[in-house]
Amino acid sequence: MPRNTTARIDLDALRNNYRKACARAGSAKAMAVVKADGYGHGIAQVASALADVAPKYAVACIEEAFAIRAAGLAQPVVLLQGVHAVGDLAECVHNQFEPVLHGEHQLEWMEQGSAIPEFWLKVNTGMNRLGFWPDDLPAVMAKLEKIGAFGGLQGFVSHFACADDESSAMTAAQTATFEKATAPWPSFMRSVGNSAAHFTAGQPLFDWSRPGIMLYGGSPIIGKAGPELGLEPVMTLEAPLITTRVVKAGDSVGYGAGWVAQHDTRMGMVAVGYGDGYPRHAGTDTPAAIGGRRIRLIGRVSMDMLAVDLSNTPEAREGDLVELWGRTVGVDEVASCAGTISYELLTGITRRVPRICR
Ligand SMILES: *Cc1c(COP(=O)(O)O)cnc(C)c1O
Repeated sequence: MPRNTTARIDLDALRNNYRKACARAGSAKAMAVVKADGYGHGIAQVASALADVAPKYAVACIEEAFAIRAAGLAQPVVLLQGVHAVGDLAECVHNQFEPVLHGEHQLEWMEQGSAIPEFWLKVNTGMNRLGFWPDDLPAVMAKLEKIGAFGGLQGFVSHFACADDESSAMTAAQTATFEKATAPWPSFMRSVGNSAAHFTAGQPLFDWSRPGIMLYGGSPIIGKAGPELGLEPVMTLEAPLITTRVVKAGDSVGYGAGWVAQHDTRMGMVAVGYGDGYPRHAGTDTPAAIGGRRIRLIGRVSMDMLAVDLSNTPEAREGDLVELWGRTVGVDEVASCAGTISYELLTGITRRVPRICR
């Protein structure tokens, strides 16, 4: 019998979140971002669950796009990081992958390659990770025309640095830069919006939006939890209580003996730890739940287990399932206790934890 530590995946919630993204995208279509193994939920399962509603997928790299094809799905797949070798361009043509062209070396590959796939051009509007400078666009477009690649060009993409921060002026500034830079070529499509942009008042999403974290119920907005934005949690991380005991006042629990009981405390050990992807930086008082009732972590998270305070749940017994995050305790809340974001927690669940879809 395997230990009962699982990530339960609610595919109906995923579909509802995708529909919410579409509703918020207005006239833009939404490509479902399923990179990093579907944000840790399982790329084949996630992409399959969206197959009848999503017209396009987006992933980081070509091997993720092949995983979508291996699941038997035919929609075009955007490669957000483009290709990493010239030979991959032919694979893109054969498989209907649409790489994002973001730098000079990829432009050279387009010139050298045997065939031109459908592709997107990335404009650097201030994130300064990838993309062509707005001032260089005319030359890049001229080059694409010269090498006969214009026919494959779908449109322009850019990415926001601060869309998660509603008070930042940067998103509007990047949008203005993008509009100005791409204005000379109005017949091509445009795409800028990550999840956060779906919640930004007045933000245009142009032809295609690119929702990722919101599909999985995580919040893209600082200081707001997914459910506050109308998103449903998709992953429930659960693990069983494997022992309970009463520690006496003055006794410590776990590595470093950092947590010391102030009074006699009934506590339990839960079969999940950082070896499963539960964040080690989640300290004492990080919430968890048993049977819909909130409890708290105590002491340090170990590789294979963590300790919880059972004072609130005197009926809890060995074998009972503890929710680490899900419907009672939001993944955003645990992330903030661990000094990170839901993206990292969801993508960090390790292979030891079976994903169980329903
Ligand atoms: C990951 C990614 C997205 C999705 O971002 P979320 O914040 O998860 O919605 C969109 N666009 C690009 C270029 C990305 O890399």
